[in-house]
Amino acid sequence: MTDQPVTVADVVGLVEKHYPPRTAEGWDKVGLVCGSGDWPVTSVLFTIDITPEVVAEAIALEANLIVAHHPLLLRGVHGVDGAHPKGRMLLDMIQQGIACYAAHTNADVAPDGVCVALAEALGLSGLTQLDPRPVERLDQLVVFVPREHTDAVVAAVSAAGAGRVGAYDHCHFRVTGTGSFRPLEGANPFIGTTGEVEHVPEDRVELVLPRGRRAAVVAAMRAAHPYEEPAFHILELAPTDTAHGIGRIGELDAPLSAGEFAQRVADALPGTVTGVRLAGPADRPVRRVAVLAGAGDSHLDTARAAGVDAYVTSDLRHHPATEARAWAGAPVLIDAAHWAAEWPWLPVLSDIVGRALPEVDRHVSRLNTDAWTHRFDAQDGV
Ligand SMILES: [Zn+2]
Repeated sequence: MTDQPVTVADVVGLVEKHYPPRTAEGWDKVGLVCGSGDWPVTSVLFTIDITPEVVAEAIALEANLIVAHHPLLLRGVHGVDGAHPKGRMLLDMIQQGIACYAAHTNADVAPDGVCVALAEALGLSGLTQLDPRPVERLDQLVVFVPREHTDAVVAAVSAAGAGRVGAYDHCHFRVTGTGSFRPLEGANPFIGTTGEVEHVPEDRVELVLPRGRRAAVVAAMRAAHPYEEPAFHILELAPTDTAHGIGRIGELDAPLSAGEFAQRVADALPGTVTGVRLAGPADRPVRRVAVLAGAGDSHLDTARAAGVDAYVTSDLRHHPATEARAWAGAPVLIDAAHWAAEWPWLPVLSDIVGRALPEVDRHVSRLNTDAWTHRFDAQDGV
């Protein structure tokens, strides 16, 4: 610990170490919503949603930073008008010197993220990814180079982004063999004579590269390679980083009926007026479970293909849920309120900040920000 006051940048840096922004979906808008990295932080409020009530809670707590799950500004903004609810919240936060930060889909996919927190709250263990999302997709370049040019080609492709592994660069493997070719009419060979088969000592050079650098690396290789037609190929590597992914699959210690398990879900999460709903037979045995915190329509097929007994998610709609249930052996569906299903992550996040910055006050908001505030069941049925 130093005497330097903790800043917004300190907390953001810590959160982003666990939830790197590059792991967010392309459409997402994560990061600082308002405020400045050099603002001091003595107190942080953790919340799923940013609502006027949450902003009022932050002001009452004299928090200087709100760390939220859902971004306040996901679509284009053309002004900060105090007459608009979002403009009002932004003005209130800025006027009170409260910074605001959002970690959204980057927090969903992480190994200590939102879906894992939900799975653990439900008593699931042996977690794997429902939909793995490797942080970095890699290619391998294999290129054949006349031996005296190997160092130049390795240097060129390394400068373009290949051969980097952790804190090392210029990583490559080379093995020497014999390359053979026959220049045809119209060729302009670097080595050899038109019409005669040539045998040349060549190195087979192998390097990894980020898939996004493929075009730049191939261009650098062609520019540094002495041959008119370099022999090379690119392989797409299977992901080995299985720590990140959308949703999780885990197992209960002992089977429960679907009804008992749905009750466990209700007991494990903060209460909401919509409660927890089950689609499917309440007596179906449940052991393997998929969870996806947040809106999970998109992964109904993935959960069924995974062969789980139950799929816990939020915001399921009538038609996708009905159609998903119609398949033989389909998992039962358990729909929990969106806010409630994501809430178990907040104490995890608060602990991450508390362990590294114990001098900062931490508050996990217990304000129910679920959209639905009342529920009515028929008293005299139709
Ligand atoms: Zn969400």
